[in-house]
Amino acid sequence: MEILHVSAECYPVAKAGGLGDVVGALPKYQHEAGYIAKVVMPMYKTKFLNTHEWDVVHKGYTNLGNWWFIYTIIKEKTNVLGFDLYQVDINGLLDREKIYGYDDDPARFVAFQIAVVDWVAAWKHRPDVIHVHDHQAALIPFMIKHCYRYQHLQGIPTVLTIHNAEYQGWLGWDKSYFIPAWDNWKSGLLEWKNSINSLACGVRCAWKVTTVSPSYLEELRWSANGLEALFEYEKGKCTGILNGIDMNVWDPETDSYIENHYNIKNKTDGKAKNKKLLCERFSLDEQKPLLAFIGRLVGEKGADLLPQAIGDSFYYIGRKMNFLILGSGSPMIEQNLERARTLSSGDCSIYIGYNESLSHLMYAGTDFILMPSRVEPCGLNQMYAMRYGTMPVVRSTGGLRDTVRDFGDPDGYGIRFNNPVIGDITHAIWRAVQLYTDPLLMDEMRRRMMRLDFSWETSMKHYGDLYASL
Ligand code: ADP
Repeated sequence: MEILHVSAECYPVAKAGGLGDVVGALPKYQHEAGYIAKVVMPMYKTKFLNTHEWDVVHKGYTNLGNWWFIYTIIKEKTNVLGFDLYQVDINGLLDREKIYGYDDDPARFVAFQIAVVDWVAAWKHRPDVIHVHDHQAALIPFMIKHCYRYQHLQGIPTVLTIHNAEYQGWLGWDKSYFIPAWDNWKSGLLEWKNSINSLACGVRCAWKVTTVSPSYLEELRWSANGLEALFEYEKGKCTGILNGIDMNVWDPETDSYIENHYNIKNKTDGKAKNKKLLCERFSLDEQKPLLAFIGRLVGEKGADLLPQAIGDSFYYIGRKMNFLILGSGSPMIEQNLERARTLSSGDCSIYIGYNESLSHLMYAGTDFILMPSRVEPCGLNQMYAMRYGTMPVVRSTGGLRDTVRDFGDPDGYGIRFNNPVIGDITHAIWRAVQLYTDPLLMDEMRRRMMRLDFSWETSMKHYGDLYASL
């Protein structure tokens, strides 16, 4: 079976979050399981592009409204990622430093999708499934079904995976001319609240829709940034499939980003060595429990609650713990965190920015990972953390609810709280500090977490069943 994944991100080529991780891993495991798995993504200016060799496999000429452009499809020569990786080069539009954040992002991603479908239209055969990811690729099911020039592709089954429904790819109707001429009777499929909504359109037009955890799918029916009614209406074709993690990349025994490797047997020693490194680097106290946050500093992740939660923890619990924050995002949250750091007399440290190697060291060297998310479609951090024997302290939502069991419950191993509010977070931090005073229990929790299986095998099987049902 041949699957073509279409995505704006793919690790290690270009990653801004979980989408990149998933598209870098799922096709690799599919390939190993005997599928022909291909990934096509935009060609950004990345280090990966410059350090690998490429073949030009297709050149085409197409249009975004009345702007005509040449696009080139290049393929990585050696299949170093374990699957066929293709990139779409559109001169001046996609070849930029950043993945997102440009004023013309709507034009960039519609042009990307048009180039992909034009390219597929030129193939001598058809893929068995086109699997599109998030709103940057979510117009493809509509294009295939209703744009006149792609009519011969209509029979190709499409799957849309939603990694995050907060971002929906809105386009004003004044940009509708971007989309190749379509059957006007179908305009309603593009429309949501007076604009073109790529994600809503994808949900309506894809043959099947998946979300990255079962709980997130349930939650979308009452909280989906305006699309709740749509998810309720389309629930029949939606399935929640929990992401896996790349067990080869995220393995404390072989992780190339950390110096002190360890496994379930020597975890106490291994984690202590990594913690020592981390504490020296950030002038923290290695005797105290170390709680970390890794992620985008946005309200969705509850990052705005951290500064006060940190301050309140010191005030109510005492200076019994250290905090280390890695992330970037809202300037206001960054400023407030900086203020919390200044007031912490050395018990809190912050690294603003994106740093892959530091994140690995943090999963290995910290004791707890804080995730006070308001929305968490799946969440990978908690799974990485557990693989490294680091306990997640999470708000019960989406994928966090599906993967973390409270240590107060039978066979539990994490800390859960219900509401994204300061009081609940501070109470959860207090529970973490208490737990840390019991090394035997801590050790047992680490053992339980490190034995959990979050590999892609199970998820891949679910995707396989879904493809087969098409
Ligand atoms: P998102 O909603 O951002 O996609 P996920 O939990 O699905 O959240 O994925 C987050 C991924 O991004 C994890 O691999 C995490 O380690 C990584 N990450 C997030 N922020 C940073 C950062 N500042 N530096 C390094 N890695 C980061």
